[in-house]
Amino acid sequence: MVAAGSAARLFILSGPTAVGKGTVVGSLCATFPGEFYLSVSATTRDPRPGEVDGQSYFFMTNPQFEQLIESGGLLEWARVHGKNYYGTPADPVDEALRQGKPVLLEIDLAGARQVKAKRPDAHTIFLKPPSWEELVRRLQGRGTESSEEQLLRLNTARTELAAATEFDEIVVNDEVPATTAQLAKIMGLR
Ligand code: 5GP
Repeated sequence: MVAAGSAARLFILSGPTAVGKGTVVGSLCATFPGEFYLSVSATTRDPRPGEVDGQSYFFMTNPQFEQLIESGGLLEWARVHGKNYYGTPADPVDEALRQGKPVLLEIDLAGARQVKAKRPDAHTIFLKPPSWEELVRRLQGRGTESSEEQLLRLNTARTELAAATEFDEIVVNDEVPATTAQLAKIMGLR
């Protein structure tokens, strides 16, 4: 349970591909501007159209990312879908927590497990689709991945869905406004 008015707390949002994490997080940022710190991850994947370096992600090369791992600058990192590196820069997270701001990490299952092991007080939230068929429909509908990439992501999604019970909370993302309200309640945002 989250204590009413709890401030400096680390929240982790995970969930399978195309479940709508980005949309829900965007909605949370728009509804509660400045009330929490949304971590900006580092990644070695290519930017998608419209993504801005330093806002969507810190886009970097493999050697740059490996340097960041070696220097201990990441709270967690993983190779997502067996391909690209993704990781959470540690300093901005700690700084926001020091300032008393709730922090939200939107990361994959492997990352969530690492953070929970390092920071057992982190509150983990799993975003679930209403059904498997709906997940497939959302992934195909957004059309940002090749069919080969879609298969890879759906494969990962099966493993992730099986791990949902490891999380402190499971939230079904049916309608974005309702999901946003549920997350805000969990994070103590008002
Ligand atoms: P996408 O390429 O669609 O932006 O993200 C792919 C996956 O990477 C998503 O499941 C997302 O949660 C995960 N991800 C994004 N940033 C991080 C991070 O910093 N660490 C980890 N472990 N996973 C991340």
